[in-house]
Amino acid sequence: EMPPVKGDVVFQDVTFGYKEGQNIFEHLSFHVKPGETIALVGPTGAGKSTITNLISRFYDIQEGQILIDGIDVRDVTLKSLRHEVGVMLQDTFIFSGTILENIRYGKLDATEEEVKEAAKVVRAHDFIKELKEGYHTVVQERGSTLSAGQRQLISFARTLLSDPKVLILDEATSSIDTQTEVLLQEGLDHLLEGRTAFIVAHRLSTIRNSDRIFFIGDRKILESGSHAEL
Ligand code: ATP
Ligand code: MG
Repeated sequence: EMPPVKGDVVFQDVTFGYKEGQNIFEHLSFHVKPGETIALVGPTGAGKSTITNLISRFYDIQEGQILIDGIDVRDVTLKSLRHEVGVMLQDTFIFSGTILENIRYGKLDATEEEVKEAAKVVRAHDFIKELKEGYHTVVQERGSTLSAGQRQLISFARTLLSDPKVLILDEATSSIDTQTEVLLQEGLDHLLEGRTAFIVAHRLSTIRNSDRIFFIGDRKILESGSHAEL
């Protein structure tokens, strides 16, 4: 079992390849402190998603160690690891049901009040309360009436309820208008409070708001620093 963590993430001399003899990373090392937001940027195929896959242990590394609060991710159950490491995918998973049920998916025993509270924190409440049946509005898995931005806000609320200390976010590339972008950035800022985050970032606003940027390429971190430094 993984105990509750603060969110300290260390890669120590990590070597990994999906196929033998084709390493994506060799001797990769870095240290991310609790609460830091890291933007992962770099060309397609550079290994941004691979890094996030390794933190949540979707794959095992060949050499080195990945430690969260000093605990090797191989030494704990996947279930308890993924309780502490939350993954938010590009395309938010929405199932057929009410908005309430979709948000509550992050914490099945959450009360309606808790769901609303979470939605308020991440700025999802404003659009939900305008819907005809509010939190009880039924949405469909496909062809729903929700916009890409609204789906993101729902996933923010859901993630806030599940409360992982390490958060992985593969930012959507889909174009959104400036107003939505501002809203999402505000919601995300609140979601990230008190968490360590790795964001595969496409938006300049996300990159600017991160504490450090890792430029990935050539099987290593080419550069690392804040937006102002780089
Ligand atoms: P993008 O910006 O396109 O998402 P990325 O930086 O996230 O790219 P990765 O998905 O980490 O890149 O891929 C890094 C390398 O690993 C690529 O050469 C890719 O082809 C390879 N790769 C990724 N996933 C797998 C997999 N499941 N099996 C085999 N090779 C993979
Ligand atoms: Mg990727």
